[in-house]
Amino acid sequence: MPTITPVRGDITQQDVDAVVNAANNGMRGGGGVDGAIHRAGGRAVLDDCIQRFPGGLATGDAGWTTAGQLPARWVIHTVGPDLRAGEHDPGLLEACYRRSLEVADELGARTVAFPLVSAGAYGWPLREAALTAAYTVAITRTDVTDVRLVAFDDDAWESMRFAVMCLT
Ligand code: ADP
Repeated sequence: MPTITPVRGDITQQDVDAVVNAANNGMRGGGGVDGAIHRAGGRAVLDDCIQRFPGGLATGDAGWTTAGQLPARWVIHTVGPDLRAGEHDPGLLEACYRRSLEVADELGARTVAFPLVSAGAYGWPLREAALTAAYTVAITRTDVTDVRLVAFDDDAWESMRFAVMCLT
């Protein structure tokens, strides 16, 4: 099991092998963490999305692109379920973490930073999103050694710390 560390900060600044993006099905950028990653990573991220994901990406799936100008080497894009659009299936949120770690293993990434997938515009309750993140990472077989769960604000930070504490 990787070491799981809650981190307070901006995912675009994380010095890790791969950062995970909470993308959408269209895979052409968006708001929230997606917008931040595309802005900071630059045009190379979008170009790679267009080339590698001509038909977009399914909910619960993950795939990688270059990280452009980010400190990370790769962006692993995953699409969380949109609770506001009626996607209530927690299994889809678990799949995001599982598939992202599988992609990290394919890449040989050992350090990976995740945002709280689906906890922003997609409306998932923070605590549930954080608990899903922590336990799914904890039970997934992976060669990744360090996982950072990155919280962008106070509420997310509280939820992340609570979720990681629940693992011990
Ligand atoms: P989704 O559409 O999957 O809900 P969002 O990007 O709207 O994705 O939000 C997911 C989480 O990412 C939220 O908790 C939001 O506060 C957080 N977030 C937004 N920007 C950043 C950032 N730059 N770094 C880390 N987390 C971020």
